[in-house]
Amino acid sequence: MATQEKKGTIIFDLDDTLFDASALKEDIFKLLASSGISLSLVRSSYKKVRNQFPIYRIENHIKLLEQENGINISKDIQHHLHHFDRSPYVKQATKELLSELAIEYNIWLLTLGDQMTQMKKITDTDLVKHFDDGRIIITEKAKEKELAKISLFGKVFFVNDKLLETQTIAKHYPDVTCILVGNHNLRNRKNIFVISSIQYIKNILS
Ligand SMILES: [Mg+2]
Repeated sequence: MATQEKKGTIIFDLDDTLFDASALKEDIFKLLASSGISLSLVRSSYKKVRNQFPIYRIENHIKLLEQENGINISKDIQHHLHHFDRSPYVKQATKELLSELAIEYNIWLLTLGDQMTQMKKITDTDLVKHFDDGRIIITEKAKEKELAKISLFGKVFFVNDKLLETQTIAKHYPDVTCILVGNHNLRNRKNIFVISSIQYIKNILS
């Protein structure tokens, strides 16, 4: 369907919207802990690393764990961390939903993070096939700035799991309908709708 015949535009976030980043994080933590440290140490070092760097990179996490605890994360574990398969972290139902939505909407992926880290998630899971060339934006800048570069055709929806980020978009783009996914203690308001699962998106689009 050519753009002029479509209903509009949907911009999706990646982590914890389409991709189960929380589950991946837990599996990474377990793998780091398998080098002989406790899970709670891995978790507390994660918090530190998130405070130090705006974007999470596994290299920084490993370095901090090694420096602060005098341990050595083996090359084997490090290799595994970088290369293990990310494909189980997107549900088949999510891919089917995207295929269905792409018939009537231009769909975009707008994700905050490091190019390599995010690209691996997108390629391992085959999500890359669902977004036409150029409709994937991986950025380390604020999403409201990146959104300005997207050609917003027809009715526009922004789908995301983070409350503050979504509120910022809703404020900067009053004509965009924001859909907040997850267990948020927030009622539907002005241009923000809350859904517990991505599958309910169709109720808002229709
Ligand atoms: Mg997210």
